[in-house]
Amino acid sequence: MTWLAPRLFGLLMAIAAGCFIGWMTGHALRAPWTGSLLGCVLGACAYTLADALPALRFMRWLRGAQDVPAPRDRRFWGEVGYRVERALRLRDRKVEEERQRLAQFLSAIEASPNGVLLLNDHDQIEWCSSMAAEHLGIDKQRDLAQPITNLVRTPAFVAHMQAAQFGEPITIPAPRAGGTLSVIVRPYGEGSKLVLTQDITERTRNEAMRRDFVANVSHEIRTPLTVLAGFVDTLANLPLTEAERKRVMTLMRQQTDRMQSLVGDLLTLAQLEGSPRPPSDRWVPVQELLRRVESDAVSLSGSRHRISVDLEGGPCLLAGNEAELHSAIANLMTNAVRYTPEGGQVEAHWRVRPDGSGEVEVRDTGIGIAREHLPRLTERFYRVDGSRSRETGGTGLGLSIVKHVMQRHGGELQVHSEVGRGSSFKLLFPSTRVRCAVDPDTAEATAAQRTERR
Ligand code: ADP
Repeated sequence: MTWLAPRLFGLLMAIAAGCFIGWMTGHALRAPWTGSLLGCVLGACAYTLADALPALRFMRWLRGAQDVPAPRDRRFWGEVGYRVERALRLRDRKVEEERQRLAQFLSAIEASPNGVLLLNDHDQIEWCSSMAAEHLGIDKQRDLAQPITNLVRTPAFVAHMQAAQFGEPITIPAPRAGGTLSVIVRPYGEGSKLVLTQDITERTRNEAMRRDFVANVSHEIRTPLTVLAGFVDTLANLPLTEAERKRVMTLMRQQTDRMQSLVGDLLTLAQLEGSPRPPSDRWVPVQELLRRVESDAVSLSGSRHRISVDLEGGPCLLAGNEAELHSAIANLMTNAVRYTPEGGQVEAHWRVRPDGSGEVEVRDTGIGIAREHLPRLTERFYRVDGSRSRETGGTGLGLSIVKHVMQRHGGELQVHSEVGRGSSFKLLFPSTRVRCAVDPDTAEATAAQRTERR
């Protein structure tokens, strides 16, 4: 009320002054009372006019954008202007703070790998994150206020929105990218909905692969088991001659060998997937590795093939895990022997390329592989000719193991093949894992490592 007293005082003073001047003027004209009454009214009017001018300036400022300071005045309207201006500045600061908080919140949502979409009570898009737009194949600006079911027409999604039973997430094909999406709808407020989208393409693919893998392993194990069970029954129930019994035992041995190699390969794969990357400071002599693989191949071939190993240049070392490197090259050599008819040729070749990378090539003159099979050769249990693979003791996992070993060593596997002419499998190692110069330190270290292992 502190503002009221001076205003009342001012008004009274103006009336009193008007009254006094009116009385004096009226007295001279012999009508003092009329003069004083008129003076009062004129005083009040003068005061009101003097008050209205700053009020008008203040109103003009208030109607504008308030981007200049309020009119300064030491009287009532100056005080009102100052207080209004302060309240506005305070509100502006709060709005700015809220705006910044909202921007931060939105950029956090934008950083999420999941998509977020807000729908109003008519299922029209109110806001959409870039990820949701990408997942659902919509335009986050252009499609604002559009009903979501006009844009995402996947029947499962439309039915889900219409049923309005939003307990469980649904899985739908991604409209644009061709993958798989998980969509969760959560109602909030008064009819609004929060839609969360997640790209589960990779997870779905992995689950399918795991299912296929389990089915394949079960199938691979069931077949020899069934055969073994049959032989056990035969042995138990039929009176066999010694020759027949021996034959049955040999066949049983083949089946157990088959299961053993399958379990062995499965364990190798599991180990490759679960163990840390091979060291880059353990050096394995390439020559020794290839000689060992050669002797394995010779005993597998039983002199049915011409087998040779060609080592270009001086002694070289490969950095990595010796057992894994041996397993990769041995798998290629074994395959070359198994898929090359009698009299054919199998060669292993080591060379250092001009850029310093290393290459192990295993070549054969065998049955070859048709072009359409090449991209799938390293898939687990993929076989071009299943019965030939099984007959020769294959598990369908060999090239998958080779690919894993090469990936772990930062290298790659390249395959070239022609049906009826033969195949060439190349293992390419990065130059960082190849050392060929005769370096006394390396030679000493390798010798020490080998002695340690023994
Ligand atoms: P498998 O144990 O069946 O040999 P791999 O993974 O080693 O399994 O090989 C996958 C398939 O690739 C084989 O089943 C075979 O059909 C084909 N293959 C591999 N190496 C050769 C080769 N040197 N010549 C012809 N075909 C090959």
